Amino acid sequence: KTKPLPGEVQPSATPSSEPAIFIPVDRTPEIQEARLKLPILAEEQVIMEAIKENPVVVLCGETGSGKTTQVPQFLYEAGFGSDNDIIGVTEPRRVAAVTMSQRVALEMNLPQSVVSYQIRYEGNVSPETKIKFMTDGVLLKEIQKDFLLSKYKVIIIDEAHERSVYTDILIGLLSRIVPLRTKKGCPLKLVIMSATLRVEDFTENKRLFPVSPPVIKVEARQFPVTVHFNKRTPLDDYTGECYRKICKIHRMLPAGGILVFLTGQAEVHSLCRRLRKMFPYRGKNQTKAIEDDESEIATDRRKSKPRKNLTLPKINLDNYSALPVDEGDEDREAGGNDDDEEGQGSDSDLDLGDGGSEEDEKSDSSDPLYVLPLYSLLAPERQAKVFHPPPSGTRLCVVATNVAETSLTIPGIKYVVDCGKVKKRFYDKVTGVSSFRVEWTSQASADQRAGRAGRTEPGHCYRLYSSAVFSDFEKFSQPEITRRPVEDLVLQMKDLNIEKVVNFPFPTSPSADALIAAEELLISLGALQDPPKTGRLNYLQRAKLSSPITPLGKTMASFPVAPRYAKMLALGKQHDCLPYIITIVAAMTVRELYEELGRPAISDEEKEILKAKKARVLQMQRVWAGQGPAQKLGDLMVMLGAVGACEYSGLTPKFCERNGLRYKAMMEIRRLRGQLTSAVNSLCPDVRIYLDSKMPPPTESQVNYLRQIVMSGLGDHIARRIRPEELLDEKWRNAYKTPLLEDPVFIHPNSSLFKQLPDFVVYQEIFETTKMYMKGVSSIECEWIPVLLPQYCHFADPLEDPPPFYCAETGRVKCHRTSTFYRVGWQLPAVIV
Ligand code: ADP
Ligand code: MG
Repeated sequence: KTKPLPGEVQPSATPSSEPAIFIPVDRTPEIQEARLKLPILAEEQVIMEAIKENPVVVLCGETGSGKTTQVPQFLYEAGFGSDNDIIGVTEPRRVAAVTMSQRVALEMNLPQSVVSYQIRYEGNVSPETKIKFMTDGVLLKEIQKDFLLSKYKVIIIDEAHERSVYTDILIGLLSRIVPLRTKKGCPLKLVIMSATLRVEDFTENKRLFPVSPPVIKVEARQFPVTVHFNKRTPLDDYTGECYRKICKIHRMLPAGGILVFLTGQAEVHSLCRRLRKMFPYRGKNQTKAIEDDESEIATDRRKSKPRKNLTLPKINLDNYSALPVDEGDEDREAGGNDDDEEGQGSDSDLDLGDGGSEEDEKSDSSDPLYVLPLYSLLAPERQAKVFHPPPSGTRLCVVATNVAETSLTIPGIKYVVDCGKVKKRFYDKVTGVSSFRVEWTSQASADQRAGRAGRTEPGHCYRLYSSAVFSDFEKFSQPEITRRPVEDLVLQMKDLNIEKVVNFPFPTSPSADALIAAEELLISLGALQDPPKTGRLNYLQRAKLSSPITPLGKTMASFPVAPRYAKMLALGKQHDCLPYIITIVAAMTVRELYEELGRPAISDEEKEILKAKKARVLQMQRVWAGQGPAQKLGDLMVMLGAVGACEYSGLTPKFCERNGLRYKAMMEIRRLRGQLTSAVNSLCPDVRIYLDSKMPPPTESQVNYLRQIVMSGLGDHIARRIRPEELLDEKWRNAYKTPLLEDPVFIHPNSSLFKQLPDFVVYQEIFETTKMYMKGVSSIECEWIPVLLPQYCHFADPLEDPPPFYCAETGRVKCHRTSTFYRVGWQLPAVIV
């Protein structure tokens, strides 16, 4: 057979029995020329033959070799997008799904109605769509509706090396779906694409693929990169070290773009500011002062008269909306994988020597530096700037987080500065305590970073750490699924009727402890059937981990939020609480609503501005925290107030900036509220709710119901205050005890309940910084615990003391039931039964 020239529009004579299909694509000459330079074009025939002959193919290629942009086009040309079939491509990051669909549409000269994307909140998929880029969470949701994924003829799992949890689960599910489709006579092809990192987890895992799929390697045209290690490793000021290294590169070394890896958004911005000050470029957009004028403080909306709360009514735990399955909610995604506020960083020595003395921070006479930030949460149009050549007479300098490591390839980079660190979220598997830690990255990802410098000509990588430190790095980063709680995944799987999650073919399985903790939590929430023996699971039950899902669990699984919050939504329709619960859940899911004002200032002037702003923001938060009984909802009331005030003011960047709120977070909350509202509406059409942007504040009794609903979802997150008279150890002053931790936990000084110190609270999560702090705290009444959270209580025999008594009102004999809170044995008030 003759090998067609790469990219040539001409049907090839295929040996397979299927007739060769060739769908012509009308590309512009410029695009065609650029494509021909990509290493993957030379492998088109090999790749397509492998896909035709095997159900599953693993495609490995250096970042930038053309996998993401070209393979969907190969498949399209080979007819995989004809008739009603769609080519599906999943990305772990939203930014990649959007940019790549735009890029491929442009290359193919087709509208976005044909090459489309779908991410959690938005998309442009149409009936004409042939190539669909989506986040991995979106495809997972589609599997829940149509297990066989019948509208797809091929699924490409891109960036599989990132090992995002949803990608891992998709690969596990697809390993079962592919043979099922073959059996049905309408085969589905699976292409797993990865950078050249460890692929053995996919290919050598017999449980996943009994027959190892073929691996095709695409050799990229990579130029040599000289790696320069620092002689010594700076202890913590790696941003300063980065800054000095970039100054040196820019002053001393020939033309060529600089790419810097830092660990987070805040660092990226602070380095960008310093660099712009030093090497100013006076183009538009580069100097944007943040104006701070005093005006339009949101009016205090909490002046309405509270309604009288007579008795203390309680919510009904069985009142949840268990209806069939939702149809309408197309765009649900099980969770975003954007690096919340995390990225990575670096810096080192064309033997420029280690850091050296502090540069004076006045601008100097070198050429301007065209400095661009790059991280996932950056607006797409600002992200796209890195693909354009810098203005003439300037040098490009991209200050990035991990996004630039493999998902996006920036043209023209000759120098890479790598701080060697990565910011990761860590969880304690049992207690769920989380913390962000900046850690050394892995050797594999340090090498990926270095490789970014050799795409178009020989380059240099400056590592801000010594070669001895490098040799201590772990070889590969641990897959995400082994590092986080998995209750949301277990619930999704149970909803797919995968009862024995332990038997699921994960590429890398979560630990048994994590699976057990997830199963136990879901049983406590009522999402899974309680195994016959109540309390902690016994050995046999643990070994099986096979509790089936309950109707409540089905309802919960239909909400795109964590199970604890899904339970709140399921209970929220009582007493008109839904709009508030939706808002609270959206705010807790989006996280990080508030701007970080504790960041170190780079000048005295900035220090003053930050101080003033902090005072103003605290003042606003006090207003949002409400007055009287509303305050008991604590930080969640502040969240409601913040969202309410934002919506009231029209949600402008200016309002957010003034009040210390993150505009992007507030926008995301708005979208998630919309999405949750439609999910609830389609689930229980009888209580049609609309989101009113001018939601009135909750009444006094609603505040109590809200506290109860929140508590029902956070039953394992209860903390009890250690009162002064119980104090045995100073470290417990003003501290709280939780069932899961030996150590004291505290209410954070930024919390609206910091001064109140209620006896019992529930918290959203515990975060470890200098101490263990509870985040998202709300106060509860201990009488509610035995009534609303009986699954967490040990009840005494009701017939023992005190003795039963006759109730004149009802004419029945009643008795007190005393109880204690599980594991910690706190005495709870008696319940009358
Ligand atoms: P891979 O998936 O193998 O990492 P890609 O297909 O993403 O490679 O990229 C192939 C080439 O296309 C790279 O040279 C990259 O710079 C270029 N490219 C990708 N997206 C864009 C874009 N939005 N604008 C311009 N060039 C792009
Ligand atoms: Mg790619």
